[in-house]
Amino acid sequence: MKKFDIIIAGGGMAGATAALALARLPLTIALVEPVAPQLDASPSFDQRAVALSAASVKIFKTLGIWPKIQSLGCPINDIHISDQGHFGFTRLHADDYGVDALGQVIPLDQTGPILWQEIRQTKNIQLYSPANISAIDSIESQQQNGQISVKLRDDSGEQQTLASQLLLAADGTFSSTAKMAGIQIQRDSYQQHAVIANISTELAHNNRAFERFTNQGPLALLPLTRNRMSLVWCQTPENAATVMSYTDHEFIQQLQTAFGYRLGQISKVGERTQYPLALHLPKKVFNGRVLLLGNSAHTLHPIAGQGFNLGLRDIAALFDSILQAQTSGEDIGSERFLNNYQAQRQPDWNQTISATDSLVRLFSNDFLPLVIARNKALCVLDKFPFAKQKLAMTAMGFSGESAQLTRGIMPT
Ligand SMILES: Cc1cc2nc3c(=O)[nH]c(=O)nc-3n(C[C@H](O)[C@H](O)[C@H](O)COP(=O)(O)OP(=O)(O)OC[C@H]3O[C@@H](n4cnc5c(N)ncnc54)[C@H](O)[C@@H]3O)c2cc1C
Repeated sequence: MKKFDIIIAGGGMAGATAALALARLPLTIALVEPVAPQLDASPSFDQRAVALSAASVKIFKTLGIWPKIQSLGCPINDIHISDQGHFGFTRLHADDYGVDALGQVIPLDQTGPILWQEIRQTKNIQLYSPANISAIDSIESQQQNGQISVKLRDDSGEQQTLASQLLLAADGTFSSTAKMAGIQIQRDSYQQHAVIANISTELAHNNRAFERFTNQGPLALLPLTRNRMSLVWCQTPENAATVMSYTDHEFIQQLQTAFGYRLGQISKVGERTQYPLALHLPKKVFNGRVLLLGNSAHTLHPIAGQGFNLGLRDIAALFDSILQAQTSGEDIGSERFLNNYQAQRQPDWNQTISATDSLVRLFSNDFLPLVIARNKALCVLDKFPFAKQKLAMTAMGFSGESAQLTRGIMPT
């Protein structure tokens, strides 16, 4: 049996970043992933583009990862928020908050292979891929042995056993590791699908991001390099099926009606993909020596662009907690350690999850008093700098207690 300090199940955005972050500490890490992104079409690193908040960019900078992916990033300097057919409107500008950019948009299909290249070059990360975790030992034996043992199966069906103090389950929304650890996940469907595509427009985006609440559902346009934009268009499942079946010309016409002409004519649309949207939350975030991370710990509606950002703040907090535990000699898989981590992260989870969920429910509703209230709220936001500042700090990921990596501190 091979022993490590930490085993990570899943090498998607959360697992790959956690491996690279924690490898900066004196730890031995095993990363287990069934789909190697350089070799196969990875479900994690697909056509999605993700808006990284300013806090997330800072974490990547502190870890030394940002220079490797910076050329893929497109800065967001302004965010426009509007409600289709109503008066409510507000705008956030990076200049008002003394930052270069409110965030950066990165394409996952190009980011994944770069993270993996880094992982392959990091000595204290042992990569097991293609392989997946097929079994873990019982909570009782984890307690008795002071470690968790994990069975891996590779493509040829061969099994091997690894052991560690802590197993991070970063294996996504439908985490089989969470299931094996006896953690139940509550799923609450939004009855919406996100249709995503890259588009080109007549006018330059000038690093503006747009958030528009339409009758069909919320719509976001994020700036990409080469004057393209990444579209996330949320619809009822029936409408999404219709939108997916449109010709490019029909699709552009419908999108133009929903979004308007702020960027002139929409000239081109790329390949379209759709995702069913639901809020996935575990009943508890750890059990025994298994801790959930990334989408397995919380899968959010993408409209506020908070899912991965929240996961990255979790990684930064875990980094701090493990660093402290190493100084004091604490067991990083113990109930006490994991309880403390959970207690520390709970306020950020509560705030981010409930803000995202309320936003979706408030803006996916045609009930007149709600329409009036949300438009008033947008106008109030626009007139009161304090309220706007709070929104901007949340969007940039700086609203809660911040970990050392978020403050740009890399312990030596
Ligand atoms: C349309 C859309 C737009 C989004 N926009 C934003 C945004 O702007 N900002 C933002 O912050 N977030 C955004 N998100 C959320 C973000 O994309 C996700 O939070 C993030 O990509 C999730 O990464 P993950 O690594 O947790 O999960 P995944 O990407 O699902 O990775 C899980 C990995 O685990 C592996 N795996 C599965 N089973 C096993 C096993 N048994 N053993 C080992 N490994 C296993 C899988 O192969 C996979 O590689 C968006 C999401 C969507 C759908």
